[in-house]
Amino acid sequence: MILDSHRITTEPYYCAAGNEIALFAAAYAARMPMMLKGPTGCGKTRFIEYMAWRLGKPLITVACHEDMTASDLVGRFLLDANGTVWHDGPLTRAVRHGAICYLDEIVEARQDTTVVIHPLADDRRVLPLEKTGELITAHPDFQLVISYNPGYQSVLKDLKESTKQRFAAMQFLYPDRALETAIVAHEAGIAEEDARRLVLIGEAARHLKGHGLDEGASTRMLIHAGQLIARGVALAAACQVALILPITDDPDLRDALTATVDACL
Ligand code: ADP
Repeated sequence: MILDSHRITTEPYYCAAGNEIALFAAAYAARMPMMLKGPTGCGKTRFIEYMAWRLGKPLITVACHEDMTASDLVGRFLLDANGTVWHDGPLTRAVRHGAICYLDEIVEARQDTTVVIHPLADDRRVLPLEKTGELITAHPDFQLVISYNPGYQSVLKDLKESTKQRFAAMQFLYPDRALETAIVAHEAGIAEEDARRLVLIGEAARHLKGHGLDEGASTRMLIHAGQLIARGVALAAACQVALILPITDDPDLRDALTATVDACL
């Protein structure tokens, strides 16, 4: 009951690119800690939502950031009318009551924060709450899942080897042309033909990765452009707003991307 608000009741739209559904189902059956690797906006979050729905398990998602502390994950004492009361954090709730806990962009969190997941991500499956002295054994349904975008990492900001080695990993890439066209058309509510043009533009932008762009245009960005098109915005303008301006501040790169869009018109 506690986790009812974390249950996904309607099937999320997810197009499989390969055997990832069966693979993840097997990993869940073993309650194996999983790492979803891949560039931002390529479908990792949608996939875990879909899997939580399919497995019938609640999903607790935490967007990690650099100011996040271990208490934000685990919980803290808060003052109320009756004095100080312990409040479970999202990780503790998942561990106690049996949810899939998805730590999105884990590498954003400080390393001293990430170590709290270590005893959960090996065969102990326990969470020690230092502040209360409690040692929680994970609920049988609990699974730990993290997302990790290797593209952004620097030496200063990477997962510890000891963290990485606790997880099995699945690689996510941008969907292939036909699949991405279907996804963009569905998600934005536009004609296949417009979606196909956006996907070609996205592919071209991805080729600029390493030539000034850290990452190419994600599926998410193509959907944003599609949503504008669905509301009557012309394709060129939609691409400026949803793709080109957000992705780079470099005028030369913007010109190169604009030329790419024009070539696809
Ligand atoms: P990530 O978590 O990798 O940053 P998301 O899961 O948020 O990316 O994906 C961005 C958007 O792209 C989703 O909201 C969804 O609309 C769409 N999307 C990407 N891949 C798929 C897919 N395989 N099936 C359905 N939708 C997808």
